[in-house]
Order: sequence, then C-alpha cells, then structure tokens
Amino acid sequence: MNKKQRRWRNRIIVALVIFAAALAVEQSGLLATLFGTPGDVYASFALFFVPYLIAGYETLLEAAHNIRRGDPFDEAFLMSVASLGAFAMVFFPQTEPHMAEGAAVMLFYQVGELFQSYAVGKSRKSIAAMMDIAPEYANVERGGVLEQVDPAEVTPGTVVVVKPGERVPIDGVVADGTSQLDTAALTGESVPRHVEPGAEVISGCVNMTGVLHVRTTKPYGESTVARILELVENASEKKARTENFITRFARVYTPAVTLSALALAVIPPLAGLGAWPDWILRGLTFLVVSCPCALVISVPLSFFGGIGGASRLGILVKGSNYLELLAHVDTVVFDKTGTLTSGTFNVVAIHPETGVDPDYVLSMAAHAESFSDHPIALSVRAAYSGRIDAEKIGEAREESGHGVSARVSEHLVLVGNDKLMAAHGAPWHDCDLTGTILHVCVDGKYVGHIVIADVVKEDAAAAIDGLHAAGVRRCVMLTGDRQDVAEAVATQLGIDEVHAQLLPEDKVSAVERLLAGEKDGARVAFVGDGINDAPVLMRADVGIAMGAMGSDAAIEAADVVLMDDKPSKIAAAMRVARKTMRIVWQNIIFAIGVKVLILVLAAFGLANMWLAVFGDVGVAFLAILNAMRAMRVERD
Ligand code: ADP
Ligand code: MG
Repeated sequence: MNKKQRRWRNRIIVALVIFAAALAVEQSGLLATLFGTPGDVYASFALFFVPYLIAGYETLLEAAHNIRRGDPFDEAFLMSVASLGAFAMVFFPQTEPHMAEGAAVMLFYQVGELFQSYAVGKSRKSIAAMMDIAPEYANVERGGVLEQVDPAEVTPGTVVVVKPGERVPIDGVVADGTSQLDTAALTGESVPRHVEPGAEVISGCVNMTGVLHVRTTKPYGESTVARILELVENASEKKARTENFITRFARVYTPAVTLSALALAVIPPLAGLGAWPDWILRGLTFLVVSCPCALVISVPLSFFGGIGGASRLGILVKGSNYLELLAHVDTVVFDKTGTLTSGTFNVVAIHPETGVDPDYVLSMAAHAESFSDHPIALSVRAAYSGRIDAEKIGEAREESGHGVSARVSEHLVLVGNDKLMAAHGAPWHDCDLTGTILHVCVDGKYVGHIVIADVVKEDAAAAIDGLHAAGVRRCVMLTGDRQDVAEAVATQLGIDEVHAQLLPEDKVSAVERLLAGEKDGARVAFVGDGINDAPVLMRADVGIAMGAMGSDAAIEAADVVLMDDKPSKIAAAMRVARKTMRIVWQNIIFAIGVKVLILVLAAFGLANMWLAVFGDVGVAFLAILNAMRAMRVERD
C-alpha cells in the first residue's frame, strides 16, 4: 500500500468505527428516549452523516465536479445520488429512518474502491517487478578508477564493468571474465546462463558470480531494457474489444439505470400505487445495485493481470487487444530461419569448380557478406578464419530472399541462391546435398557453392506439439530456403503445411491467403525474427517476434515479443491469453447476472438497501479476486 492508500484506509477505519457506534446507539433505542419521535430521525441523521462525510467526501466532490463538467454518469454519481437520497428520507420523518443505509452505501463503496486500487497497484507492481530491470548506473573505468555513470551517457564500444549482484546495464559482448547470468526477469528462465568472453549479453540480466567486462554494442536507449520498458508503458493504451465494449456499455448503461431509477421512484406513487417514501427507497436501492463497478474495474484488471503474467514468462504482449486475439488463434505461421531453426548455420561442404581453391570461394563469400545482418551472412563470416578487410569492399547490396552482391577488390561477387544467379544471368549448377546452397559467382564466372545447414531449435518440435495440443488447427512454415531443406525441417517438427522458395513479398501474400481462408473469428499468428519478414509480422492478426536475436524492426512491428526466442513460449502465451479471456467472461457474466437478479428484486421491493450494498461490493470483490488469477502463471 502506498501512502495515499494508507491514509484512505485509515479514514475508512475511523468512519467504520463511528458508524458502528452510531448503529449501536440507534439500535439501543437511546435516540428515541432522548429526542422522542420524530426527533430521533434528525438525531440519527446527524449521527450517520459524520462517518458518511469522513469516508465519502472525495466521492461527493468528484460527482459534483463531473456534474459541473457535464459528464455526470459514473459510479461516483450513482453512489452519491443513492446515498444522499437515503439521507434525504429525513424529509419523511414519519417513515422508518434509512440513515444507516445511506452511510453504509458510501462506506462499503469506499472499502471496495480501496481494494480495487490496491489490486490494480499490485498487478502493476508485478509488471514493475519485472520492470525492476532498469539499471541505475553503469561502472565505467576512467583514469584507472571505476566510476558510476548514467547508462544513457555510455557510448557504444565502451567497456563497462559488471560486478556480481549487479545488472548488466547495456547490451554488449563479454570482453573479459566468466560468470553465470540470471535472466529470469527477462525470460522467466530459472536456470542461469553461463557466459564467457565473446558471449552476447543483454541488459537487465543479473550477474551472479564473476566480474564481467562488457563491451557495449548499443546505446542504452536501444538496449533491451529500455525497449522493454517502453513497450510495457504503452501496453495499456491498446485496449481489447471486450474492454472497449465495457467502457461503452457503462456509458449507455449508467444514464439508463439512473432514468429507470427515477421512473421507479416517481411513476408508481404518481399513479397512486403506494407511498412516496417506499418508492423513492426502491429507486435508490435500484441505483446502488446498478452500479457497474465490478465490470468497469475487473475487466481491465484481468487483462492487466494477463499481460503481467505473460511478462513473467518472458512474453511481452503489447496490449490487451493482442491478448484477446491470441486467444482465438487457430493457425500459426512460422518463418523458418531464426524462428524454428537457430539461425546459426554450419558449413557442411564447399564445392569449388575445378581449378578453384575452396578457401577462395569462402573468402569471397565472407567478404561479400560482410555488411549483411542475415543469419546466413553471420554464419559465413564466422566460418571464415581469415581477416575481412572492410577497405576492399564496395557497393555491397542485400537482395532480400536472394542473397547479396558486392564489389570485393574490384571483383563483382554474387552470393546467394539460384534465384539470385538467375536474376543476374549468372551461371550456376545444382548440388545434390540437402542444405541451403550459397552459389558464389565472381565477375560473371561461377566459382562454386557452399552448402550450409541450420539446426532446429531444441524446443521447436515441442512447440509445434504444444500448439496442436492447445487446439491450434494448423502450423504452417514459410521459408525462402529450398524445398528439400524446408521439407526436412517440416517433417522433423510435425509442421502441417510448408511453402518454400518464397521471396519476402510472397510471404505476405501467403499469409494473406491464410487470413482470407480463416473461419469467422479465428485468427492467424505469424512468428518471425524480423529478418526480411517485418511486413508479414504487421500483416498477420498477431505478429510474434523473437526478441533476443530478432531485429529492432521485428520488435517494433510485432505485437508480441518472446524475450528468449523460444518458439515453445507461443503455446504458453496462448494459454495465458485464453485463461485471461475465460476470467474476463466469467466476470462479465457473473457481475451482470447478480446485478440483474438484485435489480429485479429491487424493482419489486424485495431487496433492501443492505442487500444492494453487499451485492455491489461483494460482486466487485469477487470479480477482482478472480481477475487477479490472470496474473498467476506456471513457470517452467
Ligand atoms: P527464411 O524464409 O528461411 O527466413 P530468407 O527469406 O531470409 O529465409 O532467405 C531466403 C533465402 O535467400 C535463403 O535461404 C538464402 O538462400 C537466400 N539469402 C537470403 N539472404 C542471404 C544472404 N545474406 N546471403 C546468402 N543468401 C541469402
Ligand atoms: Mg527469416
């Protein structure tokens, strides 16, 4: 509880104590002996009005403020009118007094509100616990001493020192030292990760054992931590349809029930059906019951909890609308490279043309690839043991889905698949090994090809199984790679449908075809790493990106980001999404059901104000408790 909540709580407690005392005095009949009738009614008015004001003055002010602004219809209004109305029964001193109910409405409403505010704060905090990843400083060595500097001031390439117990402040590569990193805050993974020189580390992980020297590769603003914080801050702006529906519903509903309550209070007595106080009281009771607090608060809270729960698994959902869509996904489309496969290719074979040195083929390829971020390029450079002289390279061009072209020491080099060769009219010939083939052509002459192979991610098969088990109808794989490679991977993983040799734009149209073929309400998710597929991420109903190795473009374009690149997290995300939607609907049905029931009872005069108060606060209470379940997730 924060300070404001504590003060609020104390005020409620004081009001409750006075209220209880007033109730005891009233019940004892003391007032009647002291003041006689109707003097006791005025006395009880005075007695109950004190705790009423202590607990409720803010709500009354808020209602007054809203009326002045011309936008009166909200809970504060309903509660103020209902409770003031009960007190107004003082004008009918001959009837039974209802002062206690007036105070009770406000008191219990405040108890409910306080609880809500606490619950919201708590689920926000669980996201914030994850948000605790923000580093406060970075240790930089200056003139032989370590200084703590603001991470935002550290330029890429600086070596920062991360001591055991500290968080890695900025993304980078380990320059010196070995250690274990706790990545749980980012990925939900509880097993620490071993790192040694050369390993990439992302900001937000906690260094557990040894001192690490990390050479930063990005400014703080582009580091993982800063990006996650930004995503989460914006998450609450993207509202789910259900959530918007509730807001709109409340906007129509509140004036409607206010009018009905008015009609209920006025029409029957005008028609001579009974005494005014009776009907006014029924109208007031009707107002209290009709307060939509439970819905208005518990639905957004459930979504908030779902997003918080997902974030504890290392799944960032950018808004409740995506959580809602995710719950209805029945087709999951995967990109192959970097998504289902690790994206680190091994060189299987180098097949030079006769008279060509295999090292020459690799060297040319590595040089031509030197400016590409494609996983293939990274792997080719890693396989090349010599030095790459950036001076020698010019006019480097990436042709997405094809390969690269570049000028290397005045030679025009092409590296890529048969489509690239065909597009440039270069000669090439096929290879009968299964694998991704990189043809290399220098100055229009074919020098040979490199066969590379990727391995599927450890959890890829489990991910597909998990999705099928979760009721996903089909898993589709799209790739720009060769048919035989694609089929081998698909068979290994149990993928239902494969489309190979696609250019990036073909992937968009493939997803569009799948979208068009969907049944009503069913959704298509696309999972990719953003290399060549950011447009597809945007086009799908739900775009899911690999966050750790994915490109910045992917993280921008995606709706859901998996922090640890594990495809198995998709099924976990869907489980969280479905659970959240279940909770949302339980709350909607439960809250509306109970309300309707008590409303009907109130209209027939069978529900008194007490039942109304407890009905309202009780439903809100249960709905909030239910909403908080969305936050609880199983970690693996
Ligand atoms: P995927 O759909 O599997 O993610 P991409 O669309 O990124 O694959 O690439 C499709 C194909 O294009 C690759 O299999 C490769 O043959 C070729 N290619 C793409 N980029 C490069 C590159 N930088 N170097 C060589 N070949 C490339
Ligand atoms: Mg790709």
